[in-house]
Amino acid sequence: MPDLEKTSRQLQQLREEYAATIAQRIDTIESGLESLASSTSSSQDLNSVFRDIHKLSGSAGTFGYTKLTDLSRYMEALLKEHLNSGAIPDARIISLLLEVAGQLRTLVVSGPDKEMEGGIRDQYVKPLGTTTVTNQLVYVVEDDQAQGEELSIQLSHFGYKTSLFSDATQAADAIKNARPDVLILDMILPEGDLAGADLAAGIKQILTDPPPIIFVSSRTDWESRLASVRAGGVAYIEKPVDISVLLDQLERFTKTELQEPFRVLVVDDEKELGQHYTLILRQAGMDVQCITSPEGILEILETFSPELIVMDLYLEESTGAEVAKVIRQHKNFFSLPIVFLSSEANLDIQLRTLEQGDDFLQKPISNAHLISAVRTRVERARALGRLMYHDSLTGLLNHITMKLHLETELARCQRHGQELCYVMLDIDKFKEVNDSMGHQIGDRVLKSLAHLLQERLRKTDQVGRYGGDEFGVILPHTDVETAVELIDEMRVRFSQLQHLGKDRDFSLTLSAGIAASRSCGELERLISEADEALYQAKSSGRNQVCVHKPKSE
Ligand code: GH3
Ligand code: MG
Repeated sequence: MPDLEKTSRQLQQLREEYAATIAQRIDTIESGLESLASSTSSSQDLNSVFRDIHKLSGSAGTFGYTKLTDLSRYMEALLKEHLNSGAIPDARIISLLLEVAGQLRTLVVSGPDKEMEGGIRDQYVKPLGTTTVTNQLVYVVEDDQAQGEELSIQLSHFGYKTSLFSDATQAADAIKNARPDVLILDMILPEGDLAGADLAAGIKQILTDPPPIIFVSSRTDWESRLASVRAGGVAYIEKPVDISVLLDQLERFTKTELQEPFRVLVVDDEKELGQHYTLILRQAGMDVQCITSPEGILEILETFSPELIVMDLYLEESTGAEVAKVIRQHKNFFSLPIVFLSSEANLDIQLRTLEQGDDFLQKPISNAHLISAVRTRVERARALGRLMYHDSLTGLLNHITMKLHLETELARCQRHGQELCYVMLDIDKFKEVNDSMGHQIGDRVLKSLAHLLQERLRKTDQVGRYGGDEFGVILPHTDVETAVELIDEMRVRFSQLQHLGKDRDFSLTLSAGIAASRSCGELERLISEADEALYQAKSSGRNQVCVHKPKSE
């Protein structure tokens, strides 16, 4: 969690830095107004003084000078009509404006009229992005040694660290010493037929923050289910335990923390204001970059890939709407959400701007409002992305998205002179599973392979489902030898998984083909070479990993 004290200090410092600039800003406004009064003044002078006033009204409120914002808004209103018509205001209006500018000065001397906003402590988005499923601690309390061991082994394939206990007393002692992330509890233990529920109830007494408890049991009766709910169980899974059902439940409690921090790009030509937003959003656990000029924004979009842009509506050389148009010209950023921030109160202008952006937030904006506006928009974009870019059964990337990612990654690796491997995997004789045990069981197998690939690969690797029982894996910055080692480990792990069949457990194998960008730098060819290598693995007896060999070798 970011250091709150430090952020408060930084915010305070920003506020002081901003305050030091106000007198200078008013000087500029005054000399702008004076030059308007000269006979050679042009509409450009008018634009420029309007901009300076507008910037002041947009930023002063955020740093506690609300009266200053109100007065500069009044000045904006006086000038607006002239701005639209291009006519220079007459001497009477200019002297009125100068008088108001003089009042601005007295306001600066008396300092900010609003306390610095606090309360961002409550806005912190739960710990994000640091914990992965790997090393999550799961306690399994199971008196049947063989079943308990089997379950532990299966879970370890998916990156969970497990400890096994054979009775309630042993488990209670261990929980007191080290709290697991999740507890899997058999209902029937040596202590009794509802001993699991008793243990769960006991844990609630001892721990203020008890772990989520998943019950597993051969009992299917109402009394047992009810006891599990009363003891605070979050799920009840009947034995024999289907590993993919258990994984789905486990992920409910371990995956949320897998969520990466929201990536937000702030564009504001007012340096202090941009930094203020950045600090506030970072304090809320987000990953934020800030720029004061839109130049170079396309490169930042490539390298940082923000999920949302918060952009000032009026920038130094261009408007936010123009920048948005440039961004939208690139297909990769076509649907990137853009939120405009401005003190613009004119509804017509707001609506026109919305043709390019997605939303409009009015300055000054409170910290809490900013955080929640950003958070809901990124969450929405993520949810939409899951629907559009992911396979509904496994949650992996779908075919089209996978190909797009491969194209981007390939170009990136080539730019940096690095190697990339592309892998295609296919389950062996999968059709027989469907034919003999039904699609539903087949689906579960597909899900477990998806889980396995996701958990065992690096964060930078990407996994997709090509369709049917075929999967694709992108391994950037990876040489062939490492890729073979990695994928072969997956092959072995997958063959060790026990799937729950209709009347017996069964296991399966997979074959994989690898193509390397070193020997082939072209997208379509890379894919077909991986496909050829997969075919070779299949025709050489399956359950193996083959690397594509150029014809001449
Ligand atoms: P091989 O070792 O040659 O790969 O043999 P195979 O039986 O696995 O053959 P193939 O890969 O061609 O078969 C894919 C099978 O996957 C065909 C179809 O029954 C099954 N399948 C495709 N999509 C789904 C799905 O969404 N769910 C389930 N359960 N099965 C699917
Ligand atoms: Mg197959």
